[in-house]
Amino acid sequence: MGFIKPIASIKRLSVSVMLAPDLPLCAIGDEKRLMQTILNISGNAVKFTKEGHITLVASIVKADSLREFRTPEFHPTASDEHFYLKVQVKDTGCGVSPQDLPHVFTKFAHPQSGGNRGFNGSGLGLAICKRFVSLMGGHIWIDSEGTGRGCTATFVIKLGVCDNTNTYQQQLIMKCI
Ligand code: ADP
Repeated sequence: MGFIKPIASIKRLSVSVMLAPDLPLCAIGDEKRLMQTILNISGNAVKFTKEGHITLVASIVKADSLREFRTPEFHPTASDEHFYLKVQVKDTGCGVSPQDLPHVFTKFAHPQSGGNRGFNGSGLGLAICKRFVSLMGGHIWIDSEGTGRGCTATFVIKLGVCDNTNTYQQQLIMKCI
């Protein structure tokens, strides 16, 4: 979140990060893809928010709540070798209208019906996030209460359990957030 803080502070947006106490210090996964995904969704939160705050919450999905995340394309499974990390970025920005929500992950789509009119972007960020999250064995989605009512982007990814804190990919999660 260090990357977005300068722009957030120019826009006078408060940024908070909440890390669940049970988050492991180290995990095995693709640090670059995780970093890029967090950067894209928190960058959007700053871009589409004029005032208020941005909150990032990172936690582990408990094995018994995995089924809540099941979709036709995403079938999380419990195992001793991996766990699921959930990252949620909430903003108080312009939000997304219900008719635009199904299109935000489509390449080059520029929803124009809501408060995001006038923002320019490539329309590629979320399409890339979706691809990365799917390569990381996970799922990403966006909820919004509607135009002007903020937006919450959530993703869940599968990470390997790391029991040796001296291994190469240690501190993956902490480094990315
Ligand atoms: P862009 O480069 O246009 O931001 P993205 O793929 O990152 O491309 O996002 C696609 C569209 O989804 C955006 O143009 C915007 O309409 C909507 N969107 C994404 N994140 C947010 C957000 N946090 N608040 C409001 N709208 C959002």
